[in-house]
Amino acid sequence: MNISDIDILKIRRITAQLQQEHDRLRMKFKFLKFQNFIGLALMILSVIGILLSTYLCFVGAMNTFLLVLTIAFWNSILHELEHDLIHGLYFKKVKFIHNMMLFTVWFFRPLTLNPWIRKYWHYNHHQHSGQKIDIEERGVTNGEKWGFLRLLITPDLVLGFLLRLRRLKKEIIQEKQNGNFSEKDSEKLKSTVLFGMLPFGIPLHFLFYFWIILYSLSYFGLFSPTNWTSSFFEISNPVIYIFVLPNLIRQFCLHFITSNMHYYGDIEEGNILQQTQVLNRWWTWPFQLFCFNFGSTHSIHHFVVNEPFYLRQMSMKKSHQVFKQEGIRFNDTRSFKNANHYWPK
Ligand SMILES: [Zn+2]
Ligand SMILES: [Zn+2]
Repeated sequence: MNISDIDILKIRRITAQLQQEHDRLRMKFKFLKFQNFIGLALMILSVIGILLSTYLCFVGAMNTFLLVLTIAFWNSILHELEHDLIHGLYFKKVKFIHNMMLFTVWFFRPLTLNPWIRKYWHYNHHQHSGQKIDIEERGVTNGEKWGFLRLLITPDLVLGFLLRLRRLKKEIIQEKQNGNFSEKDSEKLKSTVLFGMLPFGIPLHFLFYFWIILYSLSYFGLFSPTNWTSSFFEISNPVIYIFVLPNLIRQFCLHFITSNMHYYGDIEEGNILQQTQVLNRWWTWPFQLFCFNFGSTHSIHHFVVNEPFYLRQMSMKKSHQVFKQEGIRFNDTRSFKNANHYWPK
């Protein structure tokens, strides 16, 4: 499908105005030029936040519920940093620090894909947003019909993969036959499936499934605790409360917002106007809290790629004005009922 001249002009107008706003902010706030150090400082702050809350919980000054929510919040900043790192926005030329930062943001969000592998699929997302081969977004349920299955797999990449394996495999083979999915993409997908969630993701998912089954059985009195179960809980509880539950909550919020604010299936390839909507209604706030206001700001990123996440927050007001003038959609919940399609059925 070809993008119309009108849409091409619109995309140029939006991109220019958004870039202008980012440039204005950079002129006004001189500290923004220390981008590398801002990124590193935010990472250190988030890690200190996680360690401090863990300590407070350990000494009994914070309950586990609050611990899980606090860590989920700090992890949402680490997620944004990972995305910025993937776009080469911090220490691009100092490989050691760059890679150390990527490792740190992965270590505290261990249920996610290896970020060095994610980089490939994220660039693929920018190129093919909303298409069948947009592996990154489809991995987090974009384009699925809403129902119990989608709700269940929204936070969980492993279940989402296992429960949809046959259908997705068939679709990808078809796309390969149509010439839309290259040999390189295929090879990369194989290594992603085999190694993408190792060494952290896969073992932690299975630990969690075992933990939740045992926990539920004991809770409902269907299983009497023994010595080994007490030792199991003693060792696994800290891992679950610090690494697993905060990330499942954060991923639920992020995946819910991102998979619904990206359109899928019936949009023109490369037409940025149709790729996303702004999703920022009042009821989305509990979700936005754990994905750093993703629903309000991710559309800006599709037009202006190489700006850090905090600058998108700062340019949000002006960007939304431009979006409204140019007809970018806001809070289009109709697409929820329509498997994230852009056009009504
Ligand atoms: Zn991106
Ligand atoms: Zn996107």
